[in-house]
Amino acid sequence: MTASRVATCTVAADREFWPTVAGRVLAFAAALEMRARDLRAVQVIVPAWSHASCLRSALQRQIGAAFVPPRIAVWPSAMASDEQPLARQAELFAALRGNAWVRESFGAQPAALWSLARGIAQLCDELTWAAAAGASGEVDFEKFSDRLQASLARHFHRRAARVLQPQAQLVLQLWRARRSVDDGAVRALRELAARADANRAPLVYVAERLLDHLLDHRVDQATDQDLRRWECALLQRLATHAPVLLIEPDVALAAATQPILAAAWPEIVGADSTVPIAERAATVRAAAMPLAIIGADSLEEEATAAAQQVLQWHHAGVQSIALVALDRLTARRTRALLERAQVLVRDETGWKLSTTSAAAAVMRWFDLVAADLYWRDLLDWLKSPFTLADRAGKANEIATFEQAVRAAGALQGALAFRRAIGEAGTGEVAATAARAGAREVLALIEAQVTLARRAGARLAAHARALQGALVALGMRAALARDPVGASVLRELDTLESELAPVAGRASLAEFRALLAQRFEQIAFVDSGISSPVVMVSLAAARLRPFDAALLIGADAQHLPQAPAEFLFMSNAVRAELSLPTAESAQRAQAAQLASLLATVPRVIATWRRRHGDEANSLSSLLERLQFVAVQAAGDDLLRRPQRAEFEVAVAPTQRPAPQAPQLLPARLSVSHCQSLVDCAYQFYARCLLQLRDLEDVIEVPDKRGFGRTLHQVLLHFHLEWQHRELHLVAANDLAASLQAHARAEFDPQIERTPAMLSFHRRFEGLIAGYIAWLQARSRAGWHWSAGEESIVAELRAPGGRTGGRTEGRTGGRAGERGAGRVSELRGRIDRIDRRSDGATQVLDYKARTAADLSSGLIAAGEDVQLPLYGLLAHAASSAAYLSFDRARDGEPGVKLLAPKQPFAPLVAGVSQRLRLDLQRIAEGVPLPAIGAATVCEKCEMRGLCRRDFWELAAAEQQFPQSVPSP
Ligand code: SF4
Repeated sequence: MTASRVATCTVAADREFWPTVAGRVLAFAAALEMRARDLRAVQVIVPAWSHASCLRSALQRQIGAAFVPPRIAVWPSAMASDEQPLARQAELFAALRGNAWVRESFGAQPAALWSLARGIAQLCDELTWAAAAGASGEVDFEKFSDRLQASLARHFHRRAARVLQPQAQLVLQLWRARRSVDDGAVRALRELAARADANRAPLVYVAERLLDHLLDHRVDQATDQDLRRWECALLQRLATHAPVLLIEPDVALAAATQPILAAAWPEIVGADSTVPIAERAATVRAAAMPLAIIGADSLEEEATAAAQQVLQWHHAGVQSIALVALDRLTARRTRALLERAQVLVRDETGWKLSTTSAAAAVMRWFDLVAADLYWRDLLDWLKSPFTLADRAGKANEIATFEQAVRAAGALQGALAFRRAIGEAGTGEVAATAARAGAREVLALIEAQVTLARRAGARLAAHARALQGALVALGMRAALARDPVGASVLRELDTLESELAPVAGRASLAEFRALLAQRFEQIAFVDSGISSPVVMVSLAAARLRPFDAALLIGADAQHLPQAPAEFLFMSNAVRAELSLPTAESAQRAQAAQLASLLATVPRVIATWRRRHGDEANSLSSLLERLQFVAVQAAGDDLLRRPQRAEFEVAVAPTQRPAPQAPQLLPARLSVSHCQSLVDCAYQFYARCLLQLRDLEDVIEVPDKRGFGRTLHQVLLHFHLEWQHRELHLVAANDLAASLQAHARAEFDPQIERTPAMLSFHRRFEGLIAGYIAWLQARSRAGWHWSAGEESIVAELRAPGGRTGGRTEGRTGGRAGERGAGRVSELRGRIDRIDRRSDGATQVLDYKARTAADLSSGLIAAGEDVQLPLYGLLAHAASSAAYLSFDRARDGEPGVKLLAPKQPFAPLVAGVSQRLRLDLQRIAEGVPLPAIGAATVCEKCEMRGLCRRDFWELAAAEQQFPQSVPSP
């Protein structure tokens, strides 16, 4: 075996690279007496599949006729990929979990442990590749271990660095322990050696790495870093059986022909970098520079400028355009803008599976299992298109389920949801079927949650249980129908098969963390898109002769990009062992950039000048180019972002004023009447369209929740004492009773939402004040008569007063459509008190301040709730709010507030106005959005009426024929 048969040549990594390589291949074949039109006997290995077409096209152009191309291949992906076998990661995970230092440092964080296991698996592979030094490509573990130990001893002797020593030793131990296991780099090396031994075809090998002059790159030198040791060994092994031609892409050669590049980056061309840049720039004569730089003020501006540029190139007939995604966020936005402009982008970088809705549906399943079916997660998961795909009535079932959960305030747990569905009441046949379906769905989920929890204690068992759940929950079929979903399924199948032989215990949380890590690593690439616009990484753009390229996000943070933290070994140790270092990773990016600029005739870099308030620097590599360009040609390369200009006709948004007489219901509620007074459009949306916000399950209790509980406590308290003269009962007894009723209502809620405790305390503070008020009222002859009464009253012709009828405490349903005639008013009265002289007062409990309530009572007819209660309870001689605020500074916090005006005329005036307004609506007058600012602030219809869009423009609009009447 000799190295003499490896012929080597370097080729400038510029636009002529592939034509030159094609020429070398033809010369290589000719030397072996092969015909140019039949190259099938030659094997060519290229760095990436995208290069195969570059070579074929270049050969075609040179041969100029039909020909049989050489066999083109890339090295097996095991060498380039970061992928690590799962079984191996699982073994390392178990080993790390048992290590005292790891336990102390990472605790019980499965995600951190999996990440560590993966990092160590990669490091072990790096060590194996680096140790494969001999011509045979075999790994000399002992010799390399000695080198590693010596290096660690040298570099970790200082106190500050000593803390790294045990961790590096741990890695060394794990690496040595796994040397006999045939996986990862060990297996890849063995397979390559076997392939090399079997190969008899003449081979052309196009090296992956770009050469620059900082590195010694001769194939026969043991210190070589650029062409890796194992590559050297392998080529020599191949050369024992057949001729081998090594072609090395040389950036230095490419940059040397571009004076600006050579002056800006002397290290790449091997020039003296100690010469000041100003002196180097002075030697450059005016030269064309294929680069412009666009500085933007925001992400949107940068993405728009990038998209605009692509559209310009596209319209100018540029054949192939690269979007180099240095900053993925901005690049994604650019892609979205282009897609909006009907220009598809072939994204070779792909989307992480973790960002897809398909993977999210799978991960959400684990959240449900872990959090005992938390309601928000459950609703999200149920609404995913990847769940319950086989249920025909899914939409109705889920809607029913959601309404039940929200109405009951069920937070989590199958029991609470079952109860919520049970409480949802009865109705038509369709609703009953949907409820039965919702119950069935819940039972299905509950069964799978139980299976997931009892799956067993091995990773394989959890993977199997997940597969079972996917089938049972109708997820597998839905995922299979979607391209991204199919990719997710492939990952899950791989996971199941690779984990099958793995022994050792693992919890469900540990399995979930492993799955999350996989989804984070795997990208989905949509291979179905064909487009001249391609999104690539900087590394993937190398040696590809695009006609134009955009570097998106070319700031100091992204170009060059700092490599991820190296685990356990300092850069100095890594350099000594010929492992990649931070410096070499950054230098590789500089070489890739130089090659891109030498290859692509039009390059534009975009960057954001600011991140919020902070300045954001341009890439230092580009700054150097800029400096030289200014000196050489007086051009700083900076360009302003361009924006397309459009003619847009001004069309102010109109204040809405719909007419809808046909939508008037037969029955109105008191709150709808208040809407009619506040804003006619609010009435239209709430009452006529019957729109309403979905109720939220109360997780952090608010005043509304407090108000509801307050009503229940007072109702039960007064039902207990309804036949007693309260001023004759000891205040302590009344207070004790009220406290007991409060506990009965608040305690279950506090158990579910502990924050309710503060409202319980607030209520307890009001008890003394309320009892005092109650006893004074009792002494004045008042007693409680009824509570939570639902009453329906007839709305007669103007001028008449109506008589109400009680519906009971459950309340009535909103009436059917009245074909333009409202005949009934309904309301629920908190409390009716009667006095010994026969007077009746309607009371409404409010958990609001007295000041707040009294301001609404000043103008007659603004607050119509109390007068309309008077209309409902026709015998009422007065009505008032009972405010429950906070007891503070000697104030009891309980106060009665009645309208200032005489009650009977107030009721008559309000009911007269209501009838007239309803009559006018029935006649078709418009219902404009005319809410006052204080009303609009709290109005949930603000988005619908577009209040914020017409507010200024429509200030002058008049609605002489609209309601409410003046
Ligand atoms: S936001 Fe104001 S104007 Fe719009 S519907 Fe509500 S109350 Fe009326």
